[in-house]
Amino acid sequence: MSVFNLNEQNTSLDKKIVAGLERLSQVFKTLLWEKAKAFGLSPIQIQLLIFIKHHSQDKSTVSYLAREFNLSKPTISDAVKTLLKKQLIVKQAASDSRSYSIGLTAAGHKLVAQTEDFASPITDLVAQGTMQDKQVLWENIAKLIVQLNKLDIISVQRTCFNCKYYGKKEEAHFCKLLDQKLETQDLRLDCAEFEQS
Ligand code: SF4
Repeated sequence: MSVFNLNEQNTSLDKKIVAGLERLSQVFKTLLWEKAKAFGLSPIQIQLLIFIKHHSQDKSTVSYLAREFNLSKPTISDAVKTLLKKQLIVKQAASDSRSYSIGLTAAGHKLVAQTEDFASPITDLVAQGTMQDKQVLWENIAKLIVQLNKLDIISVQRTCFNCKYYGKKEEAHFCKLLDQKLETQDLRLDCAEFEQS
C-alpha cells in the first residue's frame, strides 16, 4: 500500500490527496531553500528566526523549539550556536535561571523581514479561490492538524480545536476567552492565547 504507487494512487482519491499534500510540502521546502541559499543560512535557521520573531519569550527556548519543529535539542542547539555567531540572535535570561530564551538582534529582525515572505507564491494562489472553497479547505486542514497531533505526529499545535477555551454555541464554533462566535475563517492555527484542553 503506497500513495506513490501510481496504479494505487490513480484509483484512489484518498491517496491522490495524500500524494498532493506531499507534493505541496516539497514546494514549501524548495521556496525556503531558495531564501536560505540567498542568505547563507540553513532552512531550519530561517524557520527558527521567523518563529522567534512571532512568538513569546516562553516559546523561544531550545526545548520548546525542539518540540515545535520535531527536532532533537542538540540539532536546535547547533542552529542556535550558528545564529549567535552570526549575531542574529541573543540569549535572554529566563525565569528558570538554568535555561535561557532567545531574542532577535536588529540584524535578526532585518533578516526575518527579508525572508518571511518565502510562502508568498502559495498565498497569492490561495487568495484567488472563492471564500467558500477557502473555508472548506481551512476547516479540513485544521481538523487534519488536530488529528495528527492526537497521533503524536505533530507534537505542538495551538489550534482552536485543541484549546480549553474552544466550545460550541448554537452549533457554531465558540471561543470562551474572547467570548465570541468563531466563523470558520476565524478558527486559529496558532493562537497566542491558546491553552491546552
Ligand atoms: S483562545 Fe485562541 S485558540 Fe483558544 S479557542 Fe480562543 S481563539 Fe481559539
